[in-house]
Amino acid sequence: MARVMPSAAVRVKQQGVSPRRCRANPDPLSLGCLIQFLSPAAPFLFYIPLMPELAEVEYHRRQWNRGLGRRVVGVEWHGDKRIFRGLDLPLLRATLEGATLRASEAHGKRMLFRFSKGGWLGLHLGMTGSLRCEPEPFTGGKHDHLVLHQREQALVFSDPRQFGRVLFHRGKTMPDWWASLPPAVTSPQFTRQALATFLARHAKAPIKAVLLDQAQFPGVGNWMADEILWRARINPRIPAGRLNARAANALWRQARFVCAAALRLVAPAHGDPPVSWLFAHRWEKGGRCPRDGVQLSRATIGGRTTAWCPRCQGAGKS
Ligand SMILES: [Zn+2]
Repeated sequence: MARVMPSAAVRVKQQGVSPRRCRANPDPLSLGCLIQFLSPAAPFLFYIPLMPELAEVEYHRRQWNRGLGRRVVGVEWHGDKRIFRGLDLPLLRATLEGATLRASEAHGKRMLFRFSKGGWLGLHLGMTGSLRCEPEPFTGGKHDHLVLHQREQALVFSDPRQFGRVLFHRGKTMPDWWASLPPAVTSPQFTRQALATFLARHAKAPIKAVLLDQAQFPGVGNWMADEILWRARINPRIPAGRLNARAANALWRQARFVCAAALRLVAPAHGDPPVSWLFAHRWEKGGRCPRDGVQLSRATIGGRTTAWCPRCQGAGKS
């Protein structure tokens, strides 16, 4: 089992230094960002992985686009790794060798790659998973746990900390583990009524924790949840069942807006959202609300470090 590292916030606290967030790194380590610890004694760089959210997952899905319409000529894996638990690896090899990558899609934090010969490959990035495309001849490195060789390029799934997951299905129809996923936040099925029902079912939980529930908000992670609440002007500690009608409506609209905009702004090149978003300020020590300049508050809510503006986000309670 991989050792669970302390969270970024805990590490910052332990080291007694201030973090300064750097731009997300667009290289294969792009699931995280480089945080520079400006220690008076010795400034140094430290890599902190961030859990990939909707748009980051979409970015990684696209990394295999160059393999579309091309045949797999060989499959390599590190079969003893836990990301393959429960998987029929010989079936995966027998199916994918000689098969053509036909299509792919992302849903929340998961991806599905469809191959000819009835092959369906599901990937979950966990915390440190990433996809990339390498020119052939390619030899996988220590953390490249699954490599699909094509004639001109290799499609690589890498996961240093192995919180990710590989799923595989062979058949004519879409596997159950994909067909049963909840509707995307940006889809027509994500209705005000469905949201109201979900909020009522989790009435006592703080709204921040509820927003992280993948059963209703697939792909929404920590920074997106904070962004949604900031835009909807809802305090993250308010119990889900105490939101008034106006706040619930704002939550529905802003959840859809943030998911759609993140896909548009972040997914193509793993860029950052604009500075008018909370995202650009939530990591800074002494970060201020981009709307009114008030210093942001921080606390752990729903197990995650949460940032919000105490002035803009005071309302929303019934
Ligand atoms: Zn504010």
